[in-house]
Amino acid sequence: MLEQLVGESQALDRAIAGEELSLKDGMELMNFENLHMLGAVADITRKKLVGDAVTFAASYYMNYTNVCAASCQMCAFYRKGHEDDAYTLTPEQIEKRVSMAKEMGATEVHIVGGFHPKLQLDYYEEMMRIIKKNHPHLNIKAFTAAEIFYLSKLTKNSVKEILSRFKEAGLDSMPGGGAELFHPDIRNKIVRGKCTGQEWLDTIEQAHNLGIKTNATMLYGHIEKPEHVIDHLIKIRELQKKTGGFITLIPLKFSLDNTELEQEKQVTHECSSVYDLQVIALSRLMLANVLNNISVYWVAYGKKLAQVALSNGGNDLVGTAFSEEIYRAAGKPTNSSVLDLANMVREVGKKPAQRDTFFNILKTF
Ligand code: SF4
Repeated sequence: MLEQLVGESQALDRAIAGEELSLKDGMELMNFENLHMLGAVADITRKKLVGDAVTFAASYYMNYTNVCAASCQMCAFYRKGHEDDAYTLTPEQIEKRVSMAKEMGATEVHIVGGFHPKLQLDYYEEMMRIIKKNHPHLNIKAFTAAEIFYLSKLTKNSVKEILSRFKEAGLDSMPGGGAELFHPDIRNKIVRGKCTGQEWLDTIEQAHNLGIKTNATMLYGHIEKPEHVIDHLIKIRELQKKTGGFITLIPLKFSLDNTELEQEKQVTHECSSVYDLQVIALSRLMLANVLNNISVYWVAYGKKLAQVALSNGGNDLVGTAFSEEIYRAAGKPTNSSVLDLANMVREVGKKPAQRDTFFNILKTF
């Protein structure tokens, strides 16, 4: 199969040979017209690295507050605090929800929120302590690097100090949100009041140095050009070479509804499925030598496209996402059970496997 693909493009040849791809290679692949061939090379690369298992976690998503000091143009979730639907959960309310999720089979709790200008560090510590006390084996995957960076500015503590305190309070891992796209030409037009790309990377590097593994994300499908996606992937790759602390990359398709980018008509439609598949394939090929896992976030894609993406380089479906307010705010359905996800995987001829946060297999189907 691979031999038939050699000679179609220099960049594709380099990908087939397992070489590290440059920005120029990435551009060549993004402009490569034969999506099937690109997807096939990404799929073969995926198979070489992780085989045919497609993983997912039983994950509970919780947003502790939607009050946010920032006002990103790509966000439909934030409130300023005075609106009827602005909310902030108490640590006790959080624990109650986590207990319910645990009963539903969740093995991790994914906790993120807005940049609340009044919450202090003890709120976050209390939240984690109470969860750990009642559910010591549940993985607390909480707070994006952007939240941590905001908290360091708000409370005048260093990033390292905050991460150390949070780790002590029970933080096991961190999600990859807040990365958006690092390139300032794009970032400055889609986020307002959030850390720079370099500050996100520096914060994550400190987390990795403290032994806190994290995911990475990449928000695409809005106003970027292909070079900005490739630039982002290269920056993730360079940090991964340094720390080895990333668990998976989750490319996030931009969800348009109710965002300022939509209201101001800067983006009038969501990106095509062809572009989605190119991004998944490119993510696989650009990161092939440093990261095994490329996650397909089915909540944003819908189940059918997510299934196709599993043959274009993806090897993971992220998780059940019991309750996920951020995507719901932008009009996407979010609940699915472990068995639904296993069926999705089986339907495309791959082997479903439930995993934990760190991709250890817990159960096969
Ligand atoms: S993306 Fe995050 S930081 Fe930006 S407005 Fe929304 S909740 Fe706040």
